Amino acid sequence: MRILVVEDEKKVAGFIKRGLEEESYAVDVVHDGEEGQDLAESGEYDVIILDVMLPKKDGIELLKRIRDKGVNTPVLLLTARDAVEDRVKGLDSGADDYLTKPFAFEELIARLRALMRRGTTELTVLKFADLSLDPATRMARRGDKDIDLTVKEYALLEYLLRNPNRVLTRTMIAQHVWDYTFDSETNVVDVYINHLRNKVDKDADEKLIHTVRGVGYILREERE
Ligand code: CA
Repeated sequence: MRILVVEDEKKVAGFIKRGLEEESYAVDVVHDGEEGQDLAESGEYDVIILDVMLPKKDGIELLKRIRDKGVNTPVLLLTARDAVEDRVKGLDSGADDYLTKPFAFEELIARLRALMRRGTTELTVLKFADLSLDPATRMARRGDKDIDLTVKEYALLEYLLRNPNRVLTRTMIAQHVWDYTFDSETNVVDVYINHLRNKVDKDADEKLIHTVRGVGYILREERE
């Protein structure tokens, strides 16, 4: 799950980013409306958290532009407590929900989960062969064995399970599981893939995570 946060207040942006990363989301933060629009238009995000009052281009304007361009990523708008008009304009302009500042982190998470349920990324159990992952409990299972995962391992396995039988490059993995500041020169992706293999594949008869030499990885069943 990759989330874009467009928020100029550094303290608020930092609070959101830290919290979401602890929940194993990959988070990109930008601090003005123009940069926000560029990234939002990439269509690479599962949800956008968008502040209304922004430098260069305000949140409502940004929202109108991306909806005009056919980007239908769910948008959660952050508005000031008394800004009723912003809320109405925001919802009219294609926001899916809003949250008034200040808010508790738990409330933000609850809204995001609701948006994701409404969108294409449902909180259903992901399955491939005898491997499954339950986003509600955050537990993986291989055959009849439960597997404990760290935050990043969970995010990595979720990405693989959402894209089975598809070659995922190290860059694609890095961008979805980490964020756009990630240095793709490092071997962090390989390190985490190895952690995951030790937990998911090591004791199994059939390996599911395969290396595509020089490119990346693929989740697939072994060929006969
Ligand atoms: Ca602001």
